[in-house]
Order: sequence, then C-alpha cells, then structure tokens
Amino acid sequence: MLPAFFDSMVELITKTSTDLPPDVRAAMRDAVRGEDAATRGGQALTIIAQNIDQAASCDGPICQDTGMPTFEMKVPVGANQIALRAQIREAVAEATRRGKLRPNSVDSITGENSGNNLGPGTPIIHFDQWEQPDIEVKLILKGGGCENTNAQYALPAELDHLGRADRTLDGVRKCILHAVWKAQGKGCSPGAVGVCVGGDRTSGYLHAKEQLFRTLDDTNPDPRLGAIETAVMDEANKLSVGPMGFSGKTSLIGCKIGALNRLPASFFVSVAYDCWAFRRLGVRVDATSGAITRWLYRDPAIPSQPMLAPEVVAAGFPRTGREISLRAPITDEQARSLRVGDVVLISGRMFTGRDAVHAHLMKHDPPVDLRGAVLYHCGPVVVKGAGGEWTVTAAGPTTSIREEPYQADILKRYGVRAVVGKGGMGAKTLAGLKESGAVYLNGIGGAAQFYARCIERVVGVSLMEFGTPEAMWHLEVRDFPAIVTMDAHGNSLHKDVEEESGAILETLR
Ligand code: SF4
Repeated sequence: MLPAFFDSMVELITKTSTDLPPDVRAAMRDAVRGEDAATRGGQALTIIAQNIDQAASCDGPICQDTGMPTFEMKVPVGANQIALRAQIREAVAEATRRGKLRPNSVDSITGENSGNNLGPGTPIIHFDQWEQPDIEVKLILKGGGCENTNAQYALPAELDHLGRADRTLDGVRKCILHAVWKAQGKGCSPGAVGVCVGGDRTSGYLHAKEQLFRTLDDTNPDPRLGAIETAVMDEANKLSVGPMGFSGKTSLIGCKIGALNRLPASFFVSVAYDCWAFRRLGVRVDATSGAITRWLYRDPAIPSQPMLAPEVVAAGFPRTGREISLRAPITDEQARSLRVGDVVLISGRMFTGRDAVHAHLMKHDPPVDLRGAVLYHCGPVVVKGAGGEWTVTAAGPTTSIREEPYQADILKRYGVRAVVGKGGMGAKTLAGLKESGAVYLNGIGGAAQFYARCIERVVGVSLMEFGTPEAMWHLEVRDFPAIVTMDAHGNSLHKDVEEESGAILETLR
C-alpha cells in the first residue's frame, strides 16, 4: 500500500468533479462570448458559466450526474496493481460519501443502487505499464446523458441528410457530423467528440473515449486526421444546434480523432460524445509514497480563471423582463397559455421523478397528489445533515427522452401540468401535452449548482427504496428558470431545431 495514494485519489476525484480544466474553460468562455446573451442559447450559456464558477467556488459537483468514473493508469514495472485498484475503489466510495460523486452504480438486473459507486464494472480502471518511475492517473467523469448519445457506424452506411458515407476519411467526417446532429441538445451541448476510426466494436469505443484525454487545443500528430478535426469543428458549428439544442452558434467545442487498424471486412467509426461538463484531470504520483508530484491539465499555482465577472455570477439568472412567473400547482389554463419560447420562473412545490419513478407510476398510484404538479426529471445529489435534514447539493435536469414511453400516460392519469427536463421529448409526449393541457420545460442540463441554489428546502421524500438519485424528492423552489420548448398546442422547439439543422446538414454532404 502507498500511504498517501488514497488521499491523492480523493483529491483527484474531488477536483475533477468540481472544477473544469483550463482548456475546457477557455473553450466555454469562447462559446459564451460568441453567443448573443439575449438569445435562448445565450441565456443557457450564461447559466452554464455561472454554474461552472459556482461549482469551483463551493467545491460542489459541476453536474449532478458525476458519471462513470474512468481511470486510465500508467504504472512502473513492479507496481502492485491489486493494491492500487483497492485504494482507488476506497477513494471512490469516500468521494461519494462526501457528496463529490453521486451514487451512480446500479445493479443491472435488480435496479438496486450500491450507494457507494462500487459494483461490478464500476469504477472503470485500466492499467498500462510504462518505463518511468512515477504513476500516472488520468480520470474522466462522463455522465449518462452524453454517454447515451455516443454512436457507432459501420461503413459504408446511408446517413440521414448526408447520403452515403464511404470507407474514406470523408465518410468519417460525415459520421461525426451525423452524430453531432443526432445528439441535438440531449448530450448537453455544446459538447466535444472523441472519435476512433477502425478497431473493432469494443476497441473502437474505448479508443474514442481515450481521445477525450487530449486537450481541446492540441494538434493531431497525424495531419490527415487533423484536417478532418478542423473540418468537423467548422461544419458542426454551422449546424446551429446550439447550446442545449436551443439553436445558436456553438454546437461543438472539440473534435479529437484517433485511428486503429481494423479487419479487412470491418470499418467502424466510433464517436464518444462528451457534454460541456467535460470533467477530466490527471496527476502524477510518487510510486513509493503515493503523494501527488504533479497535476496534469492544470497548474495548481494558477487559480482557475473565472468564467464571468463575480457580479454577473451574484446577479443570478440573466432576466430580460419577459419572464413569466409560475407558482405550482399550475392550472390547466395557465399551462395552455404558455407558448414555445416563453421563459418561466417556477416557484412552489416540485417533485423529482426519473426512470424508476416513471416505471413505478405506470403500475401504482403516486405517493403524493400530482394534480397541477411540476415533475422534475432530475436525480439530485442529496446529503443528510447531522440532524437528519436533507440538503440538495446538485440538482440539474436529466435527459427526458428516456421517459418517452411513459410520460403521456402519467400526464393524463395524474394531472401533471409541467414536466421539467432537458433535451426534449418525442411525438407521443407532444400529443400527450396537447391532450392533457401541459407543457414541457427545458432546464439547462448540467447546471446542477445553479439549480441547487433555486431550491429553498427539501420538504420530503418518497420511494427512497429506489436509491437517492431515483427517489421522488419533494422540493420547495423559488424562481427556478426554464424555457418552454414543447407546448400544449403541438409546438416543439426540438422538432424545429432538428429539422432546421437537418436542412443545413444536407448542404454539408
Ligand atoms: S452536463 Fe448533461 S450530459 Fe453532462 S453529465 Fe450533466 S446531465 Fe449528463
């Protein structure tokens, strides 16, 4: 056992979860500057920037989904990998106990959450040996929303709007553009993509994810791949998918491509999509003591450069004066009066509900009266104080499309009037909103610190047997901002942006 290795790993996890690396901050700062602050995309980016600063200042998780902890290790010959793995697992459990990681490890058969981020396959730890004296540990925390937007193509393939993608670098370019277009706002754009050309289905995805360990401002050593990276950055940002899929100038902040040899019969292009909450850091540690000797990606002597001026952060949500205040419970008339594009500020009671709650409500009555309710697609990070009181420390919206099979039925059965989530929902829900007189409100994905500050208190909790992120939390909120992106009149901003960006994609064939 290395005596300081456990503490080093807790520090690495904490810093990774709470403070974005300088290269990602710089890219996001450019995105904020490039977007008109008065547009939907601009408002979303201001909230994201505030959230980044808030997380760093309070050592809180940048996003409530702290993702799948993935460690890439390089160890000298002779290092005890069994002991290192055990200490990393202990550090992951400790960081979870401290609220820096959300309990995210779920038994795939029973649905039970282990509560400490440990379980078969979690965390992911890969070892490599190298002929250097130190140990290198790189960590990435990549959440479920962006993980679900990963894509893998077997070429040749026919792609929507882009036509045939051949087994060429131009075919690779088309696949990446298609993946970015397909992701829309579901992966919390603006995002970054790691790409692997070749390999097999498993090594392709792994190598694609490994590309995300490159800094956003580096140059590909292979000029052929570098040229595709440049072309994709240019073209993807013409798509106008924009922040959170609201339309806008920045859809992608990075494209990093690697290549592996392949079988003659296969030509895979694997795309790992990461969100704006691109949490990646690393350290070198002394192989005898386990103490950190050097940070990777950041210089601890240089404080993180703020995203915004402190007074802008303190001012909170950037208001235009056109916002509509809504107090829950909401009436049918209020819900039907809202239109796509309206910005609302919600106050009153809000109930969280995600995958387990939706499945439960299809077979059981709700534990609370949901008439007029606001249902929040969110799996918060919640900690219990010494007096038994609950505090939400991170609470941004989760990807809503997962609830598409259930949502319309739940609206109809229980009288829910507003659903808050991110990334939008499909045709069935759109029809359900119209039938039941309800709206879909898009929050800013990943803005976990920003939204936690809109929660005045935790009033109660139901269905705790599903685990912390999946339970139904009863929250008292104040001026919680969200944008109407699907209304009770059959309008959907998500559908409009997808069609408009699809038309632009046609021009990039
Ligand atoms: S920012 Fe969005 S996609 Fe990324 S981890 Fe958070 S919720 Fe998931």
